[in-house]
Amino acid sequence: SRKLLIVVTPTYNRALQAYYLHRLSEVLKLVKSPLLWVVVEMNVASAETADILRKTGVMYRHLVCSKNMTDIKDRGVHQRNVALEHIEHHRLNGIVYFADDDNIYSLELFESIRSINRFGTWPVAMLAQSKSKAILEGPVCNGSQVIGWHTNEKSKQLRRFHVDMSGFAFNSTILWDLKKWHRPTSDPIRQLDNVKEGFQETTFIEQIVEDESQMEAVPPGCSRVLNWHLHLESRGVVYPGGWLLQKNLDAV
Ligand code: UDP
Repeated sequence: SRKLLIVVTPTYNRALQAYYLHRLSEVLKLVKSPLLWVVVEMNVASAETADILRKTGVMYRHLVCSKNMTDIKDRGVHQRNVALEHIEHHRLNGIVYFADDDNIYSLELFESIRSINRFGTWPVAMLAQSKSKAILEGPVCNGSQVIGWHTNEKSKQLRRFHVDMSGFAFNSTILWDLKKWHRPTSDPIRQLDNVKEGFQETTFIEQIVEDESQMEAVPPGCSRVLNWHLHLESRGVVYPGGWLLQKNLDAV
């Protein structure tokens, strides 16, 4: 039987939210089952999001994170923690993938991550509105082995693993089955709440793998781009006349 894919998406009400959620759900709808979409919002489960989810036809759970956002840099962090707690609490056995609502995903990506045993990673194409070129972030691979990283950051403090949030996926049983996976630490795995911006991924990954030898290249060779991380600014979006747009871009 096929492994369960657990796709975790933090989301919040803003212009384009409906567009993003529809676009992501259209891809998820085409992925072979079983797939569970765990969508997490802050403070309340909004009627807008609930409505979109109900109509997708994708199996989903709509969760709420009630922790106060202490810092604007925490974008999505607490929501992902809530999803991890949910997965661990209910012992949802599958491959966990953090898919932000605004990125672009190929169908092939979701099929590829199903074959991950422990932890899989791949290069993500990053496209920023302000910059004219796209950059790759993620592993350099030799066959199914990870042998290095594309590094782009200018900061002096280098990250251990140069992976985008949407550039890795892992077996959920790592969260609770310490013995099986010989986890490097016996502490419960959490995305740390006070981690500096840009260090969330590496801090999390350092808790579930020791080094590159425990990683799998997805797909072997890492020679293809399977998803794109777009930095689009949704502030200042002008709404079309005649449409009532309160929170997200949707017709009323
Ligand atoms: N997000 C959220 N609340 C926030 C900011 C972001 O739920 O206050 C979600 C957002 O919907 C997306 C993810 O967190 O799924 C990453 O946000 P964003 O794309 O803005 O961050 P970036 O990728 O630019 O670092």
